Parts: sequence; structure tokens; C-alpha cells
Amino acid sequence: MAALHVQDLSKRYTRGAEAFTALDKVSFTIQPGELVALTGPSGSGKSTLLNIIAGYDQADDGSVVVNGFDVTRAKPADMDVLRTRTVGFIFQQFHLVPGLNALENVELSLLNAGLSKAERRARAAEALRRMGLAEHSARRPALLSGGQQQRVAVARALAAKPSVVLADEPTAALDRANAESLMDQLAALARENGMAALVSTHDQRCLDRVDRVIRLENGALS
Ligand code: ADP
Ligand code: ADP
Repeated sequence: MAALHVQDLSKRYTRGAEAFTALDKVSFTIQPGELVALTGPSGSGKSTLLNIIAGYDQADDGSVVVNGFDVTRAKPADMDVLRTRTVGFIFQQFHLVPGLNALENVELSLLNAGLSKAERRARAAEALRRMGLAEHSARRPALLSGGQQQRVAVARALAAKPSVVLADEPTAALDRANAESLMDQLAALARENGMAALVSTHDQRCLDRVDRVIRLENGALS
């Protein structure tokens, strides 16, 4: 079964009296273990596509099926499961909670995953260890470098072992060495855990490190 199947996905926005098509019948499939880059000019619809797959935004037409689970037809009550167990999201600006340390930031993401407190702690510690951050788990984000903060964000997205991980320009705020190592870690994690990873980027350092590239132009795959 495909990890992620997107079929004829369309999204329109209204601007004053005008309707504007942000996504136009976008279809693609990603298999477990595959790391795929989503590229295209600014405004081509990359963020819109990722947000719909993650359930943060709604499509007008089409479907998104994650591991056999139709996200576009999910009831609001199923959205917690979707966000914690089905899809992990990595943001460009990390979005860590400043008042919590690295371990607590990762644990927070597991609150709705149906785990006990001890299991959440163990999972979070394991995810941080996997990202090479075991010694930093008691530090707050402000005491970590940008690269370390983004690795905490990756640990947070992966701790629940989602089927699909989505990342919106995850290397934009990183230097070359951190960007490359982040992509290599994502590729290894995808392969080892049979996750599908979809990463939006216009960064050549990222494009060189993925299995496949899909390109959006004016909301359509090109
Ligand atoms: P990028 O994805 O290129 O890094 P953004 O996602 O912040 O940048 O925004 C992309 C484009 O989407 C911008 O032109 C922005 O003005 C537009 N945009 C984002 N959110 C909204 C919104 N709520 N209403 C109107 N336009 C928006
Ligand atoms: P990208 O991530 O590739 O830069 P986006 O998905 O952010 O592109 O934006 C695609 C198009 O949809 C842009 O023209 C943007 O201005 C528009 N857009 C995005 N979000 C909104 C919104 N909430 N309301 C109106 N237009 C939006």
C-alpha cells in the first residue's frame, strides 16, 4: 500500500470577486521509505499542498489517503490521531515551545497518541537520542543552535512514528552543513522506518539528496 496517495487535489481561494486556483488536480503517490522533494517557485502551492495533507487546511476537491486513511474525509474527532500518529510536520521556523526543554517539547507532541506518561517520556528520549541530542534533552530551545533546534523539531515530528512526515522548507534557516545532515537524517529515518517523507524546498543541497523530485507550477504538477 502506498504511504501517501494524493488524487486530483484542488484548492481555490477567493480574492475579492475573483477565484484563484492554488492547486489544480494534483495527483501523486509516495511509497513507504521514499524521500521526495516538492519544489517550484514561490506561490506555486507548496505550502497549501502540505497544509492540506496535514489536515491544517481543507481541499475543495480530490482526496489525500495516508496509509489507507482518507484524510480529506476525516471527522474532526479523528484529526488528533491524524496529527500525532499518521502525519508528522516539520516547520521552517521550528516552532518549539520556548518555555519547555527539548525532551518536554517532544513529549508534548505525544499527548494525544494514547500513551502513558512513562511511554511518552521513553519515546521522546529515544527520538532525541536518534537525532544525536541525548545530552541536550534538558535544554530549552534558546540554549540550542539552529541546527539543534531543527533536530528537536524532527524528533518531535517522528516520535509518534507517523506513516508520513511533511516538512515545509526545513533547511531554510540552516547553514550548509546542518542542511545536509538534516536531509541525510531524514533519508535514513524514512528508509529505516518505512516512512514516506515529502519535503518542500528550493534548496539545491536538498534536491541532491532525495529519491525523487516533484515540481509544482501555478498549482499544477509540471
Ligand atoms: P512561502 O511559502 O513562499 O515561503 P508563505 O507561505 O508565507 O511563503 O506565503 C506564500 C504566499 O501566500 C505569499 O504571497 C502570501 O502573501 C500568501 N498568503 C499566505 N497566507 C495568506 C493568506 N492567509 N491570505 C492571503 N495570502 C496569503
Ligand atoms: P508556496 O508555498 O509554493 O510559496 P503557497 O501554497 O503558499 O505557495 O501559495 C499558493 C498561492 O495561494 C499563492 O498565490 C498564495 O498567495 C495563495 N494563498 C495561499 N494561502 C492563501 C490564503 N489563505 N488565502 C488566499 N490566497 C492564499
